[in-house]
Amino acid sequence: MAQPKQPQDLHAALTTALHQVPFYTRLWTEAVGFIPTAVPALQEWPTWAVEELRAAIAAQPPFGDLYVEEALADLAYIHSSTGTTGKPRIFPVPRTDLPHMENVYREHMELMGVRPDDICAITLTFGLPRGAWSCVQAVQSVGATILPLSSGKVTPAEKLLDVIHTVGATVLHGAGSYMVYLTRKARELGFDTRTSSVRLFLTSGEAMSAESRRYLQEAWDARVVMHFASTDLSWVSAECEASSARDGALGMHVTPGVIAEILDEHQRPVTDGEYGELVVTSWLRPSTPRIRFRTGDRAALTREPCPCGGTSVRILPIQGRVDEAVRFHGQTIWASSVEDVLTANLGAPVDFFLEHREHPERGSVLAVKLPTAVASSAGDGLATTLQRTLNVRFLVEFMDDADIVEKTGVAGTGKVKRVFDLVGGRG
Ligand SMILES: [Zn+2]
Repeated sequence: MAQPKQPQDLHAALTTALHQVPFYTRLWTEAVGFIPTAVPALQEWPTWAVEELRAAIAAQPPFGDLYVEEALADLAYIHSSTGTTGKPRIFPVPRTDLPHMENVYREHMELMGVRPDDICAITLTFGLPRGAWSCVQAVQSVGATILPLSSGKVTPAEKLLDVIHTVGATVLHGAGSYMVYLTRKARELGFDTRTSSVRLFLTSGEAMSAESRRYLQEAWDARVVMHFASTDLSWVSAECEASSARDGALGMHVTPGVIAEILDEHQRPVTDGEYGELVVTSWLRPSTPRIRFRTGDRAALTREPCPCGGTSVRILPIQGRVDEAVRFHGQTIWASSVEDVLTANLGAPVDFFLEHREHPERGSVLAVKLPTAVASSAGDGLATTLQRTLNVRFLVEFMDDADIVEKTGVAGTGKVKRVFDLVGGRG
């Protein structure tokens, strides 16, 4: 990857943000009481998160004031967020952003190993959310073929497996948890995944454990590549082949035009390798510079040399979202950590969720809900292993597999929810 032209481009983005995007004028006024006359250095800018964006849209519907106003005169797309939490946010893609974004998509796709002769099956939902549509543009940017399957609600697993076999799809793009679900379905249906035409999985949108990645690689004899993209930030980073071959351990290369920072809970920068909240600055979309957006994802950075020769900063494996964790008895328990223990213990990924709830005698309890089908293989040892590894006591409970699939949402939109906090009130 070529080095971003920094700091000139960053400075240009900061200048645009300060002088042409009303959102930042307001942010500065609220943070320090006045608007700086000279453009401050990046580290001096206030950070913000999705709540501020939501408020801006509510105050000035439909798009809010996070855009250079002239750009809104000609829109190529109008999308909305998935609305997993709160009211969905409407957001526009000005036509002037498209050429720039096409370059970004192409660089990402080439880095991840997608070629013009690939047939790329997209299993994200084709609807208001941007995800599937940005994948279409990304596939087009490298000249590969689009197979728009959409999510399980539109194309059920059985039909999807039949189509990818019939047309010889080579790339599957979707959420990691949905890919794992598909693989289990394929086995139930007697579909031979190892001899299938699929050679590459592109996953994004959620943290995926090394165990789950190995399960997919083994089951399909295919490579798994992770990239990081979001409605609010466009495409941020992607794994090169060297990192993908090590289950993502080398991290994802941050794309030119993006600066990643990791901050602790007091908004102070942490050292390389240390985990904290990922804060992203991006000027990939000229109409809407995103300056110091707090993603809510836990990650770390590295500047160690990468075997691929790329010299950009890399985001080490994302541990999960802040909302994919639950505070229990003074500890933060990550769904991804529980997933690692379950996969190692049961030999293959299972669908599951965590339920933090009140208990009449014991105050609050933390239950791991698992499919009845694994009850015999889980045995009594699982609760002990969970407790030993994660230092808190879990209840291991079983319920109907279909109910778990329904509750986590894994088969529907591919967007999975694994933490239900009935005590913290966020369930
Ligand atoms: Zn690399």
